[in-house]
Amino acid sequence: MATIPTIATPAADTDVFVLPAATIAGTPVRTHGAEGTQGANGVAHDATPIFNASTGATIGWQEHASAALVDAAVRSAHGALASWRGTTPVARGKLLKKIAELIEADRARLAAMQMQVSGKPPLEADIDVGDAAATFNYYGDLCLDEKAFAPETLALPDDAVTGERFYEAVGVAALIVPWNFPMVTTAWKIAPALAAGCTVVLKPSEITSPVEHLLAEIISEAGVPEGVVNLVNGGGEVGALLTAHPLVDKISFTGSTASGTKVMQAAAQDMKRLTLELGGKSALIVRADADVERAVTLAVGGAFTNAGQMCSATARILVHDDVYRKFMAAFETAVRAIVVGPPQSANVAMGPLVCAAQRSRVQALVEQGVQAGASVAFSGSLETACADGFFMAPVVIAEPPADNLLWTDEVFGPVACVKSFRTDEEAIALANDTRYGLVATVVTADREAARRYKAQLRAGLVWINTPQLIFPQVCWGGLGLSGIGRELGLAGLRSYQELRHALADIG
Ligand code: NDP
Repeated sequence: MATIPTIATPAADTDVFVLPAATIAGTPVRTHGAEGTQGANGVAHDATPIFNASTGATIGWQEHASAALVDAAVRSAHGALASWRGTTPVARGKLLKKIAELIEADRARLAAMQMQVSGKPPLEADIDVGDAAATFNYYGDLCLDEKAFAPETLALPDDAVTGERFYEAVGVAALIVPWNFPMVTTAWKIAPALAAGCTVVLKPSEITSPVEHLLAEIISEAGVPEGVVNLVNGGGEVGALLTAHPLVDKISFTGSTASGTKVMQAAAQDMKRLTLELGGKSALIVRADADVERAVTLAVGGAFTNAGQMCSATARILVHDDVYRKFMAAFETAVRAIVVGPPQSANVAMGPLVCAAQRSRVQALVEQGVQAGASVAFSGSLETACADGFFMAPVVIAEPPADNLLWTDEVFGPVACVKSFRTDEEAIALANDTRYGLVATVVTADREAARRYKAQLRAGLVWINTPQLIFPQVCWGGLGLSGIGRELGLAGLRSYQELRHALADIG
């Protein structure tokens, strides 16, 4: 077994790597050497295996940060704060642009790692890398432009007093990211945090942490000073230890609503600033005037991209009665044609689920939903190459009862439900009949109808006739149980800053 402090490209499944429990102030920290902690396999006895999602093979091990390492990582970020917060936006912008450049230069290796640990098809893995680079570029440009950082003079009704509004980095930010889009979610948090002048402790998901370790190497190579970005590997208590740490000023968490609730409770203890990006149960609405072919393309992308493991999955598909049969026929053809397989298969369009536990969870939900009255209209199929990985064929449920869990609960897998409707009012009511509110898609040729839907759908982002486009300029975040705050855009930067004011009478 190779025991390397930082990770090498796992060119083949035989190259097993070990991820250190933490990287603090640029130094990888291994735990395997500590007395009593070494297991028979040469890594810490409680290390988590990292799997190739398409083959089920163990490609590496990830050690967990102890309470002492979490504390050391937070103290490292705290120690680097004054100096980093004192740098100019231009200096930070140059570093962010450099990170973007290095990500672009390493595009193939970063995509390959995502294909290994998540089983993402090559196109999806590459899009994620491009998205991460675009995010660092966007916040780099915002810093170089400086306007977003300049103090603003206030117009006041008292001539003797001058007023100023200015922004200051919040402080140490704990960034907890999930496994479904590890590169993207990490970039969405680290780039604005660094732009604002915050120092960070990043906690990746233990399932996909090699991706963040590569990104952390790139950030260090770009010249970001030691201590500004620290990383702790999770699994168990690490997230909770981080969110409870008194020197953490801001938490940004992406994950389930259940864990988000716990994070919010931890933040309340000492009023930590908080951004939560949680679940969703989003709708895609196909009006009678829709281009059905386009609607089917958008439905397939909205429900089955990343094997449906998306907070933004539009897995509740509402189709007008007049086009329902036509839509279902074309949707069935399209779903049956989805090539499910490992990243290297020809024409692969959908990969495996991220791990065995997630597949079991999704399969159990489908079984429960069917027992409660939902019926499977049709499903896709698996290639023979899928035998060993965490694959699952796409499933489509037709007309589930409104209280069926497949219609009401986030499934986070390749499962879509379709329901028919007769009027716009009915479609909007069905779409809004959820406590989540992340995104929605409307397919229509009618501008006026599009305007009404945009206004009445309870969602943070509405797409009209487009796939799930995401630009760093456009904020991301939802209503209700989908979370609090916004990532990306100017609001994403502001979420890592405190708004402050000064009033003066100095003659
Ligand atoms: P969770 O969101 O529940 O992930 C657990 C994460 O939360 C881990 O990083 C864990 O870290 C951390 N965590 C748990 N408790 C706390 C706490 N009290 N304070 C701080 N951090 C905490 O998702 P899972 O990975 O278990 O997936 C379950 C479901 O979550 C999925 O099926 C899906 O529905 C949803 N999900 C949603 C995502 C989204 O994009 N919105 C992304 C991924 C999952 P540690 O173990 O180190 O403590």
